[in-house]
Amino acid sequence: MKMLLSILCLALGTFSSAQNNFDFKKFTETMCSPEFHGRGYVNSGDSIAAEYIADQMTLLGIDSIQSGYFQPFLLNVNTFPDSCSIQINNKLLKPGLEYIVGPASNGTCKDANCKQAITFDAKHIKVLNMQQLIEEDRTAIERINYEKGTIYIIDNNVVQDSNAIYVHYLAENISKYYDVIELVNTKFTWSLRSASNDGLYIQMKKTTFDALYSEQMNIKINIHNVQIPNYIARNVIGQVKAKKKTKGTIMLTAHYDHLGRMGSETYFPGANDNASGVAMLLDLGQKLKAKPLRNYDVICVAFAAEEIGLLGSKYLSEHPLFPLNTIKFQLNLDIMGSGEAGITAVNGSEFKREFKKLSRINKRLNSVPSIKARGRAANSDHHFFTEKGVKGFFVYTRGFNQNYHDIHDTYENLSFNSFKNLSELFTAFLRRL
Ligand SMILES: [Zn+2]
Repeated sequence: MKMLLSILCLALGTFSSAQNNFDFKKFTETMCSPEFHGRGYVNSGDSIAAEYIADQMTLLGIDSIQSGYFQPFLLNVNTFPDSCSIQINNKLLKPGLEYIVGPASNGTCKDANCKQAITFDAKHIKVLNMQQLIEEDRTAIERINYEKGTIYIIDNNVVQDSNAIYVHYLAENISKYYDVIELVNTKFTWSLRSASNDGLYIQMKKTTFDALYSEQMNIKINIHNVQIPNYIARNVIGQVKAKKKTKGTIMLTAHYDHLGRMGSETYFPGANDNASGVAMLLDLGQKLKAKPLRNYDVICVAFAAEEIGLLGSKYLSEHPLFPLNTIKFQLNLDIMGSGEAGITAVNGSEFKREFKKLSRINKRLNSVPSIKARGRAANSDHHFFTEKGVKGFFVYTRGFNQNYHDIHDTYENLSFNSFKNLSELFTAFLRRL
């Protein structure tokens, strides 16, 4: 209750009383706060965000499309709600910085509520010589007599390029049955999976492992995973009616979910991806409410469950609340927090007439330094609609911010360099479609 009250206060705080303008920065900050748990499935962070967005829609005058704002559907997800620790020789490693737990990793205890640690002593830590294995004979890896109770260290830094992808694939595959630590030097990129494998799968910084490595080392792991079947996720859907007789619909979309928590201490705020996009969605919604489109209703959709495989947008595309053939255009917004280098429109080379229009308006308004066109890509919530014949773009910003699916994608790291300009550009574009 206390938390609900504080969320309500934050919600009201996103409006400055003087102008009644939507405060996109405050909104984004709230979406990224620890109380929202990274908008994933641990502690129902996604659901807290869904309620918050629906409240914002109400305050902005964006009406619900049916009896309420929510479209529920079910999903399965593997989660790490509480214990998530790794010690090497009694040194506690930093989650998110020195290691991440693979999204399909098992926990250290097979019973549902058991939270026991496993300690691997030196006899049960086996470092595989990947370079030798790969260079001499790839099939030798398959012939290793893997055992339960041993953890396999797979160093992904001894190989290059395509071999590195192969080794990563291999590490994941071995973890389907056995316990694995993959050593990496690249940045961590976390994700989500619907189910867990039988083995542990940890990605660890090679520098961390090497610094602590010795012949007598031990590794103590305490990870608790919970597989949640039939979790109820919800798309949040609002609308702004056309001023005159409706000829069809413009659909604005942005996913509000992110990766959530990896244990009780670590969460992924998802500021750029995609609190920023939902902020743009609501900002546009507010502008179009103040001055509605002449002949087109605007549907504003904050999608759930994008990060686990575009599930929210897939569900709406299969269970539309309005005929898909009445949608004139979809504008999907994902990663709206930078823009120093401009924007990219996925489907831009597919729908050339609309892309030319967007580029022409950008030239006139001088909103962003460049707009690049890409072809089709199944990389955000436009995908299932494009496949069903709905015209649309997925637009993302390009800039200095390279924090993606990691713990550094924070509100503080957003520049919002092009946010206001883009809001004007998109509004002008939608009015001319
Ligand atoms: Zn995203």
